[in-house]
Amino acid sequence: TPALSRPDYRLPKSSEAFARAAKVIPGGVNSPARAFGAVGGEPPFMARAEGAYLHDIDGHKYIDYIGSWGPMIVGHAHPRVRAAVSDALVLGSSFGAPTVREAEIAEVVAAAVPSIAMARFVSSGTEATMSAIRVARGVTGRDKIVKMAGCYHGHADCLLIQAGSAATTLGTPNSPGVTAGAAADTLLCPFNDAEAVRRILEANPGRVAAVLLEPIAGNMGLVPPRPGYLETLRELTAKHETLLIFDEVMTGFRVAYGGAQERYGVTPDVTALGKIIGGGLPAAAYGASSEIMHRVSPTGPIYQAGTLSGNPLAMAAGLATLELLREPGLYDRLEALSARLAEGLEKAARDAGVPHVVQRVGSMLTLFFHDGPVHDYEDAKRSDTALFARFFWEMLARGVYLPCSQFEAAFVSAAHTEADVDHTVAAARESLAAVVG
Ligand code: PLP
Repeated sequence: TPALSRPDYRLPKSSEAFARAAKVIPGGVNSPARAFGAVGGEPPFMARAEGAYLHDIDGHKYIDYIGSWGPMIVGHAHPRVRAAVSDALVLGSSFGAPTVREAEIAEVVAAAVPSIAMARFVSSGTEATMSAIRVARGVTGRDKIVKMAGCYHGHADCLLIQAGSAATTLGTPNSPGVTAGAAADTLLCPFNDAEAVRRILEANPGRVAAVLLEPIAGNMGLVPPRPGYLETLRELTAKHETLLIFDEVMTGFRVAYGGAQERYGVTPDVTALGKIIGGGLPAAAYGASSEIMHRVSPTGPIYQAGTLSGNPLAMAAGLATLELLREPGLYDRLEALSARLAEGLEKAARDAGVPHVVQRVGSMLTLFFHDGPVHDYEDAKRSDTALFARFFWEMLARGVYLPCSQFEAAFVSAAHTEADVDHTVAAARESLAAVVG
């Protein structure tokens, strides 16, 4: 751990585990952000999680604001999700043959998400966006896609172009292994700049299959769409017969039950979902109108498949989670808790005299160490990441687990309490005093 105002915070067992893992797994982790590259030091290794809390193998307890990077909206190890998975497990963990649950969850998703009449389940958000693009290309017969700088859509070749998330943090927006050919069909625009999209569509008539974006960017820190931005993209794509794809892997069932498209009232042609839809197990999906989805195999020619797609355990966890989300008042409570946290952090940063802006939509938020506002990736990159790194570690030492990068959103769950939030804000005051002083 870096030098901290809390020298008693130590991670000896985690450090040993990290050294062991690093011998057999690149960087000791199975997903880059987990290695703490953006904040330095070595990560705590986790033993278990319950409700709003994570417990590491060194005996520390943390209030968790990553929620597995989004999925754990009802909290960790929720009794009803656990029971659903246990009940499914005794019946067998994978069949490679259809089950009734798959139709059941697809019905739930179609009822929830305005753009979806039919959905196909896959196992990761990466697969969901990759498949959504294949569908858009297959349906339109066009090759090019428009992507926004700083939006992350998983690690498919054509989407690893100026991606956010750990790709930002590691400074490798264009990864080796992505071919020039894959990159050539991806046209980049800044987020929140509808005029840039208009210019690209006009310069490439009849060649753009889809405009793809996170309707609320969560992978350059939290950046809401400017008023009218999504509406203008909807008009432009309709005019150019280009499909509008919302990547709601992070925002789906998060910012509203029906996602950002429900919250902002803008309906895309195709939607990618993930994270919450699997309730903490590997599941994701893409969906659209029946007309579009009938073009997917086996009813149509656009191929897409998966050995573990629609996995019974993941479907059980997802269904149980979505059912919990339908409880009256849940999103209002998330909103109130998250507003309390955002206001507390804002006041703490103001009192500490550090450059800051807190941006939030529903239960997703980021404290940027930058005067703000942050409208796009260029703005986000002007944040003081060194200050963030020190703040992050001071918070960790005080039992608050924030996303380990300035370019990630924090998530509040329904298991968090006002006391958790108030403890977090108190820890932020102390941490800011430690890093400023
Ligand atoms: N799309 C968005 C908006 C995401 O935030 C992520 C993951 O963070 C992905 C896609 C990729 O999902 P996965 O990590 O499940 O492949």
